[in-house]
Parts: sequence; C-alpha cells; structure tokens
Amino acid sequence: MNHSAQCTVRVRGLAKAFGANQVLRSVDLEVAKGEVVVIMGPSGSGKTTFIRSLNLLEMPDRGSIEICGIALAEPASLPGGELRRKTLQIRQKTAMVFQSFNLFPHMTALQNVIEGLISVKGIAKSIARERGLALLGKVGLSEKADAYPGKLSGGQKQRVAIARALAMDPDVILFDEPTSALDPELRDDVLGVMRELAKEGMTMLVVTHETRFARDVADRIIFMEGGHVIEDCTPGHFFSANASERCKQFLGRLH
Ligand code: ADP
Repeated sequence: MNHSAQCTVRVRGLAKAFGANQVLRSVDLEVAKGEVVVIMGPSGSGKTTFIRSLNLLEMPDRGSIEICGIALAEPASLPGGELRRKTLQIRQKTAMVFQSFNLFPHMTALQNVIEGLISVKGIAKSIARERGLALLGKVGLSEKADAYPGKLSGGQKQRVAIARALAMDPDVILFDEPTSALDPELRDDVLGVMRELAKEGMTMLVVTHETRFARDVADRIIFMEGGHVIEDCTPGHFFSANASERCKQFLGRLH
C-alpha cells in the first residue's frame, strides 16, 4: 500500500485568524486509517478551531486539507460552487461529536439518530429505523429509543450523538471535548463507547483533557499551544519523564 492510500487525513499549513487573533499558525498533521489521535493543550490554543476546520465548520485562511482522497487546497480562495461540492464530499466522510451534543430537542433519540439517514442519504424509513435501533443498542441505549433528549442524562445524550455520527457511516470521527460538559460519573459510559470504536479500528481525532483515555486509547498525542503543534508523540512518551517541560507543566496543572 502506498503512503497516500494509508493516509486518511492530511493537513498542511493550516492557518486561521479571528480578526487580529491568529488562532492557528501553519498546522501540519497526518493521521493514518484506524489511528486514534488525541489533541491536548491549554484552553484557547486552537484545538477546537483546528478540528472544526477539518470539515469546514470553520473556514481556514490558508492551507490544505485532504480527507480520504478528497483534497481541498486553499479553500478560502476556491470558487463558491467548487467549495460547496468539496465541503459536502468531506462532510460525507467525517462525522463530528460536539461538547454540547447538538441533538434536536423535538425528536426522540431514534429520530435524532436516523434523521440524516433519511434526509441526507435518502434511506427508506423502515431500513433507517432498523439501523438506528442497532446503533442505539451498540451505545447501550436500546431502551431509550423513544425518549426525547430532555428526558436523557448528559451521558445518554452524548451516546445518542455518537450513534447519530455512526449512522452516517463515516471514515473519520472528530470529537470536540465530548465529555467536558458531563459530570464525572457520566463520563465513563461515553468514554467506554469511544474505546469500543477505537478497538474496532475507527479513525478518530479527539480533543479532550481525559488523560486516562489518552494514555490507554490514543496512538498519538498532539499537544497544541499558541496555534502550533508543539509535540506529536506516543502516549508513552507524552506521559513519561522524557516529555517536554511544557507538556509536563500542562499535565501537572490538570491534576
Ligand atoms: P481551544 O479549543 O484550544 O480552547 P479554540 O479553538 O476554541 O481553542 O479557541 C482559540 C481562540 O480562538 C480563542 O482565543 C477563542 O476565543 C478564539 N475563537 C474561537 N472561535 C471564535 C469565533 N467564532 N470568533 C472569534 N474568536 C473565536
């Protein structure tokens, strides 16, 4: 297999400013198929902006993105039609799980999971329903299929959101602090589902401060600061005495 076939995500020179605030300064990253990459770093270092840029929820000012062979060079300067087409193609390959779940409150858990299957993929309702129920089973929520989000705990809502992401059959899942809005005792169920996905070989980019998850599940840890990747290493190195002083200082403050 050649290198480009193995590479699921390739980012080059990604830069983004909000006004005078230069949030990303030429970020490069390659993620292979099946890799779990955890992105850590202090608040405000650009982690969320980075993963939101990958599926164009934020428009980068400069740089290129390639996801599963769909290449988008300098998206900010592309003609509108081409940008929309490529953005759609990239979003068909990637799913995103947000800190705040983003479920539709007027839809049941099952309806949330299958909405995209019906409206975006045009799959028949009965087939979508079957698939949705299977996915709710996978995240341990079979009995909540008909519950509305208002009746679910934060951890259950996040598991519905993961089932919804899986329904679209993505090649890559982007997780933006998926457990940071949850009480500590609700985090484990969500992290457990994410561990299972990692074991099954899902390619995952995860912004998180969960050090145990990072240590146990990540293949690589990216440490960002000031809009740069300042460390790209194995968890073994990141959590060892050989890590850079900056990483050790950061980890020291987390505990
Ligand atoms: P992190 O995820 O590492 O905490 P973010 O990517 O959320 O960092 O934010 C990086 C910086 O970009 C912060 O200073 C934040 O205030 C700013 N920022 C993020 N999104 C926006 C936006 N939509 N408009 C203006 N500033 C933003």
